[in-house]
Amino acid sequence: MDFDRNAAARLAEKYESFYLYDEGAILDSIERLRKSFDGVRFLYSAKANPHPGVLSCILSEGIGVDAASLREVQMGRENGLGKHDIYYSAPGKSVHDIDAALPDCVIIADSVNEVERIQTLAAGHGIVAEIGIRINPNFSFDGAVGTANKFGIDEDTVFEKLPEWKAMKHIKITGIHVHSRSQELDGTLIAGYYAKMFELACRVQDALGEKLGFVNMGSGIGIPYAESDRPVDLARLGDEMTRLMGVYRSRLGAQILIETGRFLVGKAGVYVTHVLDKKVSHGRTFVILANTLNGFVRPSMAQMVESYTVDAHPHNSEPMYTGRNAFGFVPLADTAGTETVTVVGNLCTGTDVIAKDITLPKLDCGDVFVITNAGSYAAVLSPMQFASLTPPAQILLKTDGSTVII
Ligand SMILES: *Cc1c(COP(=O)(O)O)cnc(C)c1O
Repeated sequence: MDFDRNAAARLAEKYESFYLYDEGAILDSIERLRKSFDGVRFLYSAKANPHPGVLSCILSEGIGVDAASLREVQMGRENGLGKHDIYYSAPGKSVHDIDAALPDCVIIADSVNEVERIQTLAAGHGIVAEIGIRINPNFSFDGAVGTANKFGIDEDTVFEKLPEWKAMKHIKITGIHVHSRSQELDGTLIAGYYAKMFELACRVQDALGEKLGFVNMGSGIGIPYAESDRPVDLARLGDEMTRLMGVYRSRLGAQILIETGRFLVGKAGVYVTHVLDKKVSHGRTFVILANTLNGFVRPSMAQMVESYTVDAHPHNSEPMYTGRNAFGFVPLADTAGTETVTVVGNLCTGTDVIAKDITLPKLDCGDVFVITNAGSYAAVLSPMQFASLTPPAQILLKTDGSTVII
């Protein structure tokens, strides 16, 4: 993976451990999506990486927000987005959070209770709230039938309830949302899912007796983590979307929304840390890094998951676990020779292991060590308060060479 080695080395003189996000790489990913999908609006799933500089870079490109919390709704507002640019979708929203978010976004109701809560709260404010319905469809990505799910409202329940919801005076259903899978690399599966979404949208629209304003297809488009992963053929997937939009144009005037978190930022970030110590124990050489499990949990978590299975391809559990060899390890120093080492962190737990017996360029104390694929679900997932170690900095390197540091 490409990253700015000079910037990493320079910043490593000042920071013991840090995330380095590359604005140029984020803008590139946005461009690749835009080029492939004509007439689709993208929403950034802010939970992937809500660094203020990252958010402002993405949102100033005309991308909306997929907000998973009230705070993320507010982040969208703070970046100047309007109500129709922010979609608040999460299970179990509190009454307080729904009430506070109501004026600022389109709320996607995640349960029958939530539809009723929104109706009651909107009535209290004397407004009509435009809402979306998150559906747990009777289909899945792989062509199987629907399954029990904590997200959304079962498709059958939606059709049962629609007449009742239509009669509610303070809500207006303007769209639907389904997000059924993250990190899919098979474009054919994603395309099949889009096709089913168009059909579902038409059926909801017919039952509602009104045109839908938006159809939110959720995410799905994955990124290559392991070197053996092949990226999704975006041009082909985009063409399929264009074809579907053409087929349904006369029946469905809705704006097509696609959510994306990791695609925009996942490969645009690396984690940079240092070798603090090195020792040999019972014949095994340990390299001890600063802030691994506590600063960037996913590589250690992957070791843990893989220690419980002999499966060559343990199934992913996003965003905690993706698959084998999902992270690249890049020592920055130009050293001669290689060495087989076990790479661990400086936390007081034996689970703080990121690689066992791997062969790497020879490392010494003080060397800079880089871990790739650290732009999404990285800083946000990591238990930085553990052991009260100094948490890593998060640094956005902008295209003009300046930095935004938190
Ligand atoms: C987290 C999330 C996403 C983002 O998924 P990525 O795989 O990062 O693109 C999209 N939609 C919803 C509803 C989510 O919860």
